[in-house]
Amino acid sequence: MYAVKVIKFDFSKERENMCKTSVLSASGIKAPFEKTTIERRELRPDDVLIDIKFSGICHSDIHSVHGEWGGGIFPMVPGHEIAGVVAAVGSEVTKFAVGERVGVGCFVDSCGECEYCLKGEEQYCTKGVVQTYNALDYDGNPTYGGYSQKIVVTERFVVRIPDSLELDVASPLLCAGITTYSPLKHWNVGPGKKVAILGVGGLGHLAIQYAHALGAEVTVLSRSMDKKSEALGFGADQYFATSDPETFKALAGRFDLILNTVSANLNVDAYLSLLRVDGTLVNVGAPGTPDQYNAFSLLMGRRSIAGTLVGGIQETQEMLDFSAEHSIAPQIEVIRADQVDEAYDRVLRSDVRYRFVIDVSTL
Ligand code: NAP
Ligand code: ZN
Repeated sequence: MYAVKVIKFDFSKERENMCKTSVLSASGIKAPFEKTTIERRELRPDDVLIDIKFSGICHSDIHSVHGEWGGGIFPMVPGHEIAGVVAAVGSEVTKFAVGERVGVGCFVDSCGECEYCLKGEEQYCTKGVVQTYNALDYDGNPTYGGYSQKIVVTERFVVRIPDSLELDVASPLLCAGITTYSPLKHWNVGPGKKVAILGVGGLGHLAIQYAHALGAEVTVLSRSMDKKSEALGFGADQYFATSDPETFKALAGRFDLILNTVSANLNVDAYLSLLRVDGTLVNVGAPGTPDQYNAFSLLMGRRSIAGTLVGGIQETQEMLDFSAEHSIAPQIEVIRADQVDEAYDRVLRSDVRYRFVIDVSTL
């Protein structure tokens, strides 16, 4: 576990020319959500003001509010799966106009100049990418996320939502979609590749759809057989329960790539044994405590363990367009703002098929 460091900010500080907005905020680690108001910054020339319509609940929101990644900045307004409509634009905005349907994901700023920003991989910005919430922006102000009715974001971090995607369905794509699409593209998943998707939650159920659309042979590994028919419906070719020891015998040495979307620690050696020579276990799941593995699990098959963080802005736009073109969409349950605490409990019990999305008009 990392050292727990909690930073407290004062919401009520009045600033001029700010736009007030309703939000759901947690006052401290594991605190229940409360409805309150905050002020968004005055529009800078390159800013877009977005009327948020829907905001997905990512398991990362829960890790953050529960302090599992080392404390946090409170009060915290989570939410990095944001879909809405442009309400106003700054004087130098060129990409967006009022009324356009747009999204914002996990990041709201980066230096724009380092080698990674220039490559469109803003998430690895050397100055430090600014996360949509639970972060300090480059002026030192805390960022507040999408459990909110309005947000102000520099246009560089805003993407366009294709017409064929409804806003509620589009919102989870801004994190769960890009976080699974990006590694599948990076590790060249396609025809002839055998891919396993580990965990069928918000990320996992989209990963199955992308891996299938990219032409890979897709195997799903879930704790039980409960999600089998749905996983096959998302495009899986095969489905196995990891609670059955026979699964690890049957699938030994099978996969080129395993995409681990599980929010908890794993028996890493058991999953490494399912990789072919040169196979890679890619982690996107981000439990707050370290995993362990035996070096022999890697060296006996020249295997790799990797990790990947969300995806860049240009790739996020590509993922949205790809999703629209291939009719890829999350299966969602739309909830009211007053149901978010209960929704967190349900995500922790894996009692969601497969993503909660908050209708922020209920704030
Ligand atoms: P989620 O909807 O809760 O899904 C997680 C899935 O993991 C569950 O559906 C379950 O699948 C499996 N699981 C849960 N607890 C488990 C346990 N104790 N043992 C084994 N399997 C378990 O979560 P999510 O929103 O998809 O997020 C998944 C993880 O990705 C989180 O840790 C999140 O923070 C992380 N994340 C990372 C990035 C990144 O950039 N790397 C971005 C977004 C999210 P089955 O029921 O099928 O077993
Ligand atoms: Zn997320």
